[in-house]
Amino acid sequence: MNIKQNLETIKASLPGNVTLIAVSKTKPVIQIREAYDAGQRDFGENKAQEMTKKWEEMPKDIHWHMIGHLQRNKVKYIAPYVHLIHAVDSLKLLKEINKQAQKNNRIINCLLQVYIAKEETKFGFDPEEITQLLESEEFKNLKHIRIKGLMGMATFTENKSQIESEFHFIKSFFDQLKNKYGMTELSTGMSGDYTLALQYGSTMVRIGSAIFGERNY
Ligand SMILES: *Cc1c(COP(=O)(O)O)cnc(C)c1O
Repeated sequence: MNIKQNLETIKASLPGNVTLIAVSKTKPVIQIREAYDAGQRDFGENKAQEMTKKWEEMPKDIHWHMIGHLQRNKVKYIAPYVHLIHAVDSLKLLKEINKQAQKNNRIINCLLQVYIAKEETKFGFDPEEITQLLESEEFKNLKHIRIKGLMGMATFTENKSQIESEFHFIKSFFDQLKNKYGMTELSTGMSGDYTLALQYGSTMVRIGSAIFGERNY
C-alpha cells in the first residue's frame, strides 16, 4: 500500500469542489501521518474515543470528521475540536451536540443522515422527517449547530442500478432543500461507489480502504 500514491490517484479523479475525506478508522497514527505528509488534511473516524486519541497525537490543522453513528454520551469527547458530524440521525442527538457546542463556545457543523439503503442496519431520517425537523421550533432554537447538508450510505451491493437509484434519490432531495436551508454539502460515496456518487452531486467522498488498504476487523 502506497498511501501517498493512492491519495494522488484518487485526488486526480475528483472535481475541484469535492472534499476528499480519508477514512482512517482502525488505522494507526503512523499511517495517518503518512497521508498528512502527503498533504491530506481531512480525516474521517467512526468512534469518538479513537478519534480523540488521534486528534491528541496529530497536528492541530487537521479537520476531523465524525462519519459513524454517534451516541449521545460520546458527543462531549469530540465537541471541543470536531470539524463536521456527518451522521446525525435524531433531534435528541442534535440537542446534545448543541449543548456541548455551547459549553465549548462554538458552533458545530452537522449533516443530517438520510436513510437511503435497503438495509435495516443503516441509520438515518426519512425525507419527511427531515423537512419536519428543519421547520420545527425546537430545531430553530438550537443556536450552536449549523446544518451544512445531507449524508447518505448506499446499500452494500454489487447491483449498480440499486446504488445509482439511491444516490439519485438523495441528490433530488438535497436539491429541494439546499437553497431554502443554505445547504452546501452532500456526503455520499465510499471506496466502492464514489465515482457513481460523484455523478449524483457528491461534494464529500469518504474513502478508507482505497487509501489505507483493507481493514481487518
Ligand atoms: C468505513 C466508512 C467509510 C469508508 O469505507 P471504505 O469502503 O473503506 O472506503 C465511509 N463512510 C462510512 C460512514 C464508514 O463507516
